[in-house]
Amino acid sequence: MNSNLIDGQWVGCSEAQTSINPSDISDIIGEYSKVSLDQVEDAIAASTAAFPGWSATTIQQRFDILDGVGSEILARREELGQLIAREEGKTINDGVAEATRAGQVFKFFAGETVRISGESIASTRSGVEIEVTREALGPVALITPWNYPLAIPAQKIAPALAYGCTVVFKPASLVPACSVALVQILENNGIPPGVVNLVKGSGAQIGGALVKDHRVAGISFTGSTLTGRKLSEISSNRGARVQLEMGGKNPLLVLDDADLENAAQVAVDGAFFQAGQRCTASSRLIVADGIHDQFVDNVQRRMKSLKVDHALKEGTDIGPVVDGAPLNEIICLIDAARKDGAVLREGGEPLTRDTRGHYISPALLTETTNSMPINKIEVFGPVATIIRVRDFEEGIDVANDTEFGLSSGICTSSLKYAREFRRRSKAGLIMVNLPTAGVDYHVPFGGQKASSYGPREQGHYAQEFYTSIKTSYIRPI
Ligand code: NAP
Repeated sequence: MNSNLIDGQWVGCSEAQTSINPSDISDIIGEYSKVSLDQVEDAIAASTAAFPGWSATTIQQRFDILDGVGSEILARREELGQLIAREEGKTINDGVAEATRAGQVFKFFAGETVRISGESIASTRSGVEIEVTREALGPVALITPWNYPLAIPAQKIAPALAYGCTVVFKPASLVPACSVALVQILENNGIPPGVVNLVKGSGAQIGGALVKDHRVAGISFTGSTLTGRKLSEISSNRGARVQLEMGGKNPLLVLDDADLENAAQVAVDGAFFQAGQRCTASSRLIVADGIHDQFVDNVQRRMKSLKVDHALKEGTDIGPVVDGAPLNEIICLIDAARKDGAVLREGGEPLTRDTRGHYISPALLTETTNSMPINKIEVFGPVATIIRVRDFEEGIDVANDTEFGLSSGICTSSLKYAREFRRRSKAGLIMVNLPTAGVDYHVPFGGQKASSYGPREQGHYAQEFYTSIKTSYIRPI
């Protein structure tokens, strides 16, 4: 299947990617053609040629297209949710929720088109007027991961189009079907040729070519910190704007005064749902001495009742992990943690089910210290550790003692500690008595330290990446 859109034409090269259902590896979703490096060139050229026209469209034209895309996604959310569940492995409910979010994101940014504004500021000089206005940045490359195959592309494509940028979209190789479905919806709603181009293939090859090209004015990337850093070195050397959303090692601090039932559910949800494959997953559960034993028992009880199975089966709480290689890596990291002295209190076992898939039971490791490698590197699977601390002071120090800074949470009934945590936590997202994962679509998203770089994504703040500011001095004569 020719599954790359370049200048309004569906094209491909002789190589293909196979999309396989991680819940059932005998279920082939499809073969999707990749692009050659020459075709990447064509896509960049098409987005460059389309930019003057697209950035000059009226805000009403852009509103109507984005609003139409949002409506179609919302109307088809069940079907798209099924596709997400089949290709990525999250449960059908999570798939439908992701499709809904993608639709809401397009609706939000349809609204943003009619909210683009500037400022008029008095000059220090007599007879001079100053206007500060925003302009579309230019053609942008959007590089996305596999774990939210519809919502993260939506979170980048919708603001790019709303503010007048043209797009070359490079999705993760594991989820070609979702990317094709999204781009077809953009086409159905009248996106002109060249404004959105879809290119598929190896990140190192074609992602690298996009990042290097001087015609690409900005790169918005979501993925691992390792890839993000490589990419930012190249893009900043040539002066391109860059926005990176990367990994996490998110802490959840549970204080003695926490509501035990809520804290345990918040931990289980944040750590294990969607097989822990969320950049905001709670991977370090930092628990105060006074509640430690009860909390661990409660979490373990809840874990025993979680049903790990085929993502499309009714009643499944957690689907498989996305592929065989990450599954093996998760198992190796659990084994290494045990060698370092951690106790595998629950789960961590590869599972067999009616269909052959990449199944593992959620794992809880106790008796860990923050200096162990398992508490330093991102596992990106259903694995959480327990770190015992004396009190709030030690807890906040441990929470901040990481190279990452995406999301962080606290469970407490004390307003004083909740506020103190918000003030001192070195993270971009703060959750009080809520899971570290799970965010609204209309407010800024991003982190600190090695988790994020550049302007925030989402909400009105997205304009900081997709627009340039122009300051004009005018003397009317
Ligand atoms: P990844 O391996 O870094 O890949 C992300 C994207 O970059 C893919 O499209 C990949 O293409 C491409 N890529 C790989 N090497 C590249 C290169 N040298 N130049 C340009 N592009 C390149 O990450 P992933 O495994 O897909 O996703 C999991 C990671 O994403 C986790 O670390 C997770 O925490 C992070 N994540 C962060 C957020 C956030 O908002 N902070 C959200 C979701 C996920 P291929 O697929 O072809 O390799």
